[in-house]
Amino acid sequence: MRKCRKEATDTFTTERAEEFREMLLKERDSLVRQIKSLSAASLTSSRQAGEELADVGSDDFIRETELHLMTEEGRRLALINVAIQSLDGGNYGTCVDCAKPISVGRLKAKPYARLCIDCKVLREENDGAAPEGVDDSEPVEE
Ligand SMILES: [Zn+2]
Repeated sequence: MRKCRKEATDTFTTERAEEFREMLLKERDSLVRQIKSLSAASLTSSRQAGEELADVGSDDFIRETELHLMTEEGRRLALINVAIQSLDGGNYGTCVDCAKPISVGRLKAKPYARLCIDCKVLREENDGAAPEGVDDSEPVEE
């Protein structure tokens, strides 16, 4: 009987570092562009809103929404930077919760992932909190 176990054993190795570094740098570039255009749009819209809209509440709402978006983008940018650092440090592709390797399939979909899929599910069930005994001070996912 032959069983295909490629998926389970396909883990990140240092030979693939450049492949993932390229993916991370590309993602970081597009994210930086996105953040720049978001902040430019935010400045423009608040200026126009100030002139044309009497309703300050909705202007605040728009700005709050944009701010929230920027926070999410900013968080992802931080995660990408951490991932690039861990590529340099040699601990890329290792789950921060259980220290097992993260599958390459998952890293390809999300090169800045810091949790294996099992721990990700566990955290989701736990309202996003880290399990006991794990340092919860660092962001792990967007
Ligand atoms: Zn894990």
